[in-house]
Amino acid sequence: MRKYVIMGVQGSGKGTQGLMLARDFDLVQISVGDVFRWHVQNHTKLGAQVRRIMRAGALVDDDLVDAVVRRRLDEHDWNYGFVIDGFPRNPVQAEFFLESYDIDGVIHLDLPDEEVWRRVLARRLCSRCGMDYNLIAHRPKDEGRCDVCGGELLSREDDTTDALTARLREYHGKIDPVLELFRGKEFVVTVDARPDKMTVQQEIRKHLDLAPYQL
Ligand SMILES: [Zn+2]
Repeated sequence: MRKYVIMGVQGSGKGTQGLMLARDFDLVQISVGDVFRWHVQNHTKLGAQVRRIMRAGALVDDDLVDAVVRRRLDEHDWNYGFVIDGFPRNPVQAEFFLESYDIDGVIHLDLPDEEVWRRVLARRLCSRCGMDYNLIAHRPKDEGRCDVCGGELLSREDDTTDALTARLREYHGKIDPVLELFRGKEFVVTVDARPDKMTVQQEIRKHLDLAPYQL
């Protein structure tokens, strides 16, 4: 069983890298952001709460994240392990998480803030089918239209300049101490997140003693 945490600022490729690991090693990928987005899209009570917070450009409250993650992990559908991103969010959660789940490693995707700006503001989402695009790395054939369904491409509601400024400030304020704690316990593998996704994935695997990614 393998249990990993992926940490990195928004736009650092946590979701992509997590998926590449999960597919190969039969891990369950748990993205706290995706879980919340699901609640928003399905108009749950939790979704309404999250939507209000995101509109204000803030990060979702730690206790709420904690509750959602625990509920998700309690489903015990992760026979071969999991890879989680968006959690833990403070040193107390981090300590608890390490002890309860016997984590094998923390992958830190390192990305400078200026690169975060460039990447996040280039993101688009299909308003019809939900397909993700990026005007830098994954351009649609017709600008503004989804290649799959022809739906209109929009920025995510939470990808505005003000919201990103607030998120970066909160990220460093909250997550840097968590990384410090993990580093103190020698769990952290830091990988430069700027190269292409394959290079980043191979680098992660090298550090974790995993077999290289095969095309
Ligand atoms: Zn679409």
